[in-house]
Amino acid sequence: MDWTEWELEIDTETTAMITPSEVIEYVFCPRYIYFMNCLNIPQHEELRYKVLKGRELHERREKTNVDYLRKKLGVIKKDVAVYLASKTLRVRGEIDEVLHLSDGTLAPLDYKFTEFTEYIFQTHKVQSTLYAMLIMESYKKPVTRGYICYAKEGSKVKEVLYTERDFNQAKRVISEIFDIIIKGFFPKKTRWQNRCIDCCYRNICVQ
Ligand code: SF4
Repeated sequence: MDWTEWELEIDTETTAMITPSEVIEYVFCPRYIYFMNCLNIPQHEELRYKVLKGRELHERREKTNVDYLRKKLGVIKKDVAVYLASKTLRVRGEIDEVLHLSDGTLAPLDYKFTEFTEYIFQTHKVQSTLYAMLIMESYKKPVTRGYICYAKEGSKVKEVLYTERDFNQAKRVISEIFDIIIKGFFPKKTRWQNRCIDCCYRNICVQ
């Protein structure tokens, strides 16, 4: 075990941390976090299923299409399945790929099995921003953009350009999630009522 693994082990044992998947769930509806973390009621597995499918697909792609992104995005090197944790951010997660780009910056690449829509992209953008913050802190190198590959649609790759506003928004979301988990704060429901129609919590959620 090298010192990095040792540090991570200490961090995750002593510091409460959330994952980017939980952030996606929060962005979808803040009450998901309350029902899952405060009341310990698990949700249906659809979101996690899609994450897993993305991983499987990524593993297949890894074997068959090694040079694809290198040519398209100017990748000179990549680290695959990188687990990072930050005590400062209170976030941990495994990034599908950390790309080393020819301009000296780094970029996260995340594979998704979902179909691309503008809304889905905005949700994934928050996750990508968290990955960018984890990479900057761990690698001590700039991260100005990231990539999301929608593998279900023939490897449609979307570029994410991070702004200071994106980083501040991600930090605010983390803080709001910890207010729910640690203080038991009952959050407002989602603004989008159509999300309640097939929600697994609709029977216990005060509308
Ligand atoms: S029923 Fe609506 S407000 Fe309640 S948890 Fe589900 S999506 Fe959120």
